Amino acid sequence: MTTEVTAPSAPPVSPTLAAELRRAVTSGRTRSVAWRRAQLDGLVRMLTQNLSLWERALAADLGKSADETHVTEVALVLDEARHARASVGRWMRARPVVAPLALQPAVARVRPEPLGVALVIAPWNYPLQLQLAPVVGALAAGDAVVMKPSELAPATARLLAELVPAYLDDRAVRVVTGDADVASALLEQRWDHIFYTGGERVGRIVARAAAEHLTPTVLELGGACPVWVDRTADVAVAARRIVWAKLLNAGQTCIAPNHVFVDAPVRQRLEAELRAALAEQQPDPRTSADYGRMVSKSHLDRVVERLGDGTVVVGGEVDRDARYVAPTLLADVAIDAPAVTEETFGPILPIVPLASVEAFAALQRERPKPLALYAFGDRGVLDRLERTTSSGAFGRNVAVAHVMVRGLPFGGVGASGHGAYHGRRSFDLFSHAKAVLAKPTRPETLALVFPPITEAKREVIRRLVLRR
Ligand code: NAD
Repeated sequence: MTTEVTAPSAPPVSPTLAAELRRAVTSGRTRSVAWRRAQLDGLVRMLTQNLSLWERALAADLGKSADETHVTEVALVLDEARHARASVGRWMRARPVVAPLALQPAVARVRPEPLGVALVIAPWNYPLQLQLAPVVGALAAGDAVVMKPSELAPATARLLAELVPAYLDDRAVRVVTGDADVASALLEQRWDHIFYTGGERVGRIVARAAAEHLTPTVLELGGACPVWVDRTADVAVAARRIVWAKLLNAGQTCIAPNHVFVDAPVRQRLEAELRAALAEQQPDPRTSADYGRMVSKSHLDRVVERLGDGTVVVGGEVDRDARYVAPTLLADVAIDAPAVTEETFGPILPIVPLASVEAFAALQRERPKPLALYAFGDRGVLDRLERTTSSGAFGRNVAVAHVMVRGLPFGGVGASGHGAYHGRRSFDLFSHAKAVLAKPTRPETLALVFPPITEAKREVIRRLVLRR
């Protein structure tokens, strides 16, 4: 049973916070590999030494089971932090680049340097993972960081505010809790990078505020991820994997399947297999420790509205006081119903038949690009969809699990956002790749292009320019 928790009280935001933390970077404090490793070690200890506190916070905020917290929140951040800790020395090194013959002798290299102060604004649905995974990149890059957790996951926000100062360098890393007003106050300041995860509406607000200071941003936005189940699919496997992916965090996952388009000939089989998978994985969701709750009653109300978009095949039960919505299959849903065109962010799965994979691909090309697209079918069908549709990620006979592959970029395209992170990419995002060219003072080969350009020089330049 979960209870609504009040938001942590927010002290006013210091208007000089960004400037203050920037001094930690410009003074050189955050530059050394030792500092970066110490912060990443601190992050790992903050998670491992307080595991039961994190479990409790996530249970309070979202009714997450300890197992789900381990797998979907803690494990990913630990993996990112440990990998960055082991690799940061190498990532920081300048990388040589070949200089063209015309400039020789010369040495060119790319030197990553800290961008400065990063603001990382997180949502409520994976309040720990989506706050800390970007922070790993910022710390590895030698940046100072301000974290702004979501007020809708207050227990996790409070714990972050309490533990971060105990494990990380307070001169360079801070947590600011509070609501949209606090976020707005933060956005008025000049940051060197803003990393925002959340809905599209606020994404626009963040992008506008960033434009004022020409601050680079990463926007990790909404999902509305479609699934295609082809007539060539292993329908039973598809159903089990879709149900698992959909019911994680009770459907409040940006990369969760939002709706299923099914090849008309296998529609009935898919419906039967989805029912069976639901019965197998969540025989009694009401009492199951493995089934989460809606984050708030108002979010529940929005999810429940979607029940009106079709006919309930399974589920449909709602207990508003307990913030419970049963795993639900919805049939007879129009192709342009909100349950299909908008992100439901709850455990309601609409199933919409389409005539063919071509119809699905054509529809996808018309619609805003999703954060992920999942398809179940044989190799030919999957190859075709992989090449002819665009999405942040593409799952072949699998959904959601791509987030666990550190080497894969995690991010959206078009309406689902821009900028991708995880692994080395997170370090690159929060670094400036500085171009360095070094040229010895002798011999003076540049004299060739110093005026006056004589006929002899012109001939050499021409040869160099036209050289193949
Ligand atoms: P939310 O309401 O918690 O907002 C996210 C953050 O924005 C919070 O920290 C909040 O305080 C801040 N915020 C709210 N109003 C603001 C304002 N006016 N100005 C500045 N900041 C403001 O979260 P949400 O938007 O409901 O999150 C759910 C959405 O996030 C879904 O659409 C989901 O798909 C998306 N999401 C995307 C990813 C991804 O990786 N792409 C991951 C998780 C969630």
